[in-house]
Amino acid sequence: MKSVIKAVVFDMDGTITVPVLDFSLIKAEIGVAGDRPLLESVLALDGAERAGAEAILLRHELRAAHDSRLNEGVAETLGALRAAGLKTAILTRNCRVPVDIVLEKHDLHFDAIVTREDSLPKPNPDGLHKVSGIVGVDAEQCIMVGDYEFDILVGHAAGAITVLYAPQGHSFQTVPDFEIRSMLELVGLVRILNEG
Ligand SMILES: [Mg+2]
Repeated sequence: MKSVIKAVVFDMDGTITVPVLDFSLIKAEIGVAGDRPLLESVLALDGAERAGAEAILLRHELRAAHDSRLNEGVAETLGALRAAGLKTAILTRNCRVPVDIVLEKHDLHFDAIVTREDSLPKPNPDGLHKVSGIVGVDAEQCIMVGDYEFDILVGHAAGAITVLYAPQGHSFQTVPDFEIRSMLELVGLVRILNEG
């Protein structure tokens, strides 16, 4: 049997964990306006203004990590994927400390973790290429699963198979290869792709 999929790369906020970060609220607290996403808005600032904005962002991310709850089926899905011999990874626009808090709180383990300290942020494919290098699996043999458009765009850009986790549907135009409503659907999807 040919194994097409050898690794599953997860977004963290909203995918591994129940989404709690209110990006509009954080942008308002930092004092940036417009449609540009939060992280890009912060990175566009200079000097003391940027340091202040990063501190506000980190405070929200740390609180979200301490308060985090796993999405339904996440632990079972990770266990089933590992049992099937797949590598698992996290690719997030978050930074490393909150990721470590979430992993320790919920006793989760991944073969690779790439955060915004490690790579250019999604949707730039840099991070997914880094994950691919760490786990030793070509990007084409990875599934990128996430709850937001950037997760699909990064997967497309790197040549991975994209899965949108959308328990309540979604409102953006970018089309994923697959869409799931429950995390546990991922296990069956991998099995079908690897048997096909
Ligand atoms: Mg997300």
